[in-house]
Amino acid sequence: MKFRRVGIVGAGQLGRMLALSGYPMGLRCTFLDRSGDAPGAQVAPILVGDLEDAGKLAQLAANSDVVTFDWENISAKLLVPLEKTAAIRPPAAALEVSQDRLREKALFARLKIPVAAHAAVDSRDELLQATRKLGLPGVLKTRRLGYDGKGQYVLRSPAQIDEAWSLLGGPGLIYEKFQEFSREVSIVGARSATGQTVFYPLAANVHGGGILHYSIAPFASGALERKAQTYLKRVMNALAYVGVLTIEFFVVKGRLVANEMAPRVHNSGHWTIEGCVTSQFENHLRAICDLPLGSTRALGHTAMVNFLGKMPDLRRLLSIDGLAYHDYGKEPRPGRKLGHCTILKRRAAERNSALADALKLIEWT
Ligand code: AMP
Repeated sequence: MKFRRVGIVGAGQLGRMLALSGYPMGLRCTFLDRSGDAPGAQVAPILVGDLEDAGKLAQLAANSDVVTFDWENISAKLLVPLEKTAAIRPPAAALEVSQDRLREKALFARLKIPVAAHAAVDSRDELLQATRKLGLPGVLKTRRLGYDGKGQYVLRSPAQIDEAWSLLGGPGLIYEKFQEFSREVSIVGARSATGQTVFYPLAANVHGGGILHYSIAPFASGALERKAQTYLKRVMNALAYVGVLTIEFFVVKGRLVANEMAPRVHNSGHWTIEGCVTSQFENHLRAICDLPLGSTRALGHTAMVNFLGKMPDLRRLLSIDGLAYHDYGKEPRPGRKLGHCTILKRRAAERNSALADALKLIEWT
């Protein structure tokens, strides 16, 4: 096998689930992470150091045939020298685009993928102008390093401009028109270096306070799913992408509006571990290791629920038939993603009723 040793930058739960899915195929993962006790470090060897430490990155690349990411906010200029030692997948250019909400939206727009009306904001005055031009309500976001609703402020009246500016103010912001969506959905797919692509069924996602609470999949909407796949393929091809890529969308009046993309496996794809023939984690590894991509066929009707801030009772949840429990081995902290469960059933009604039972046992703190 050409690529057998996989270096993973970041050892969070995504890295951990990647490493676990690599073992059966004989792949060996090594992590780089700040913490020797990170979720990934509990299942595979780790180099401890800053994710942007050039020396540590070089050491990781020297021990790997291919380097990939659990965390995408690594400066592309640190990755270029690594290409002499190991393949960098997904490509650094894809990471760069997804690090900046403005560049991401520019790429979507260039590829004729609808996005919310938006404006770059670098001063209080520009924020005022943006709210006048695009109207209220709107969302002020940091262009970089925002995730799970962090670094965001929903503006509903001009009186909130001062508060929004005092909380987030500074250069490097974006103001987006608020989307009155009926649903949030996401599409996860994989592309290999030879251009083979596979797409998972569409997932419907329910967020609270900007963070994913649960997903249901497949979300039955043939037309939306085909459109989402077309959009994802456009982005993959434009970036000569290798690996798993995710796009999150708002559904507004029956149309998809792209919100953001993630150049990696995604929380809204965790259901594929039990819910599909081949999981997103395995397909990411297959793609970056030049192996044939696996079937993305759904095995039934699935729900995935995040454990946030507090782990629910293992015994009570496991008494729900068809439920799989995942504990990432993290210290509890409010709002922190600590684990998830997935329910797989043959019929949608059975899935919905088991989901309702599980939700009674899960508290998001
Ligand atoms: P993000 O970090 O961009 O994924 O945003 C987190 C969540 O905040 C999204 O999943 C939505 O629920 C909400 N949100 C973000 N941007 C907007 C928007 N322009 N309009 C309405 N809701 C939004």
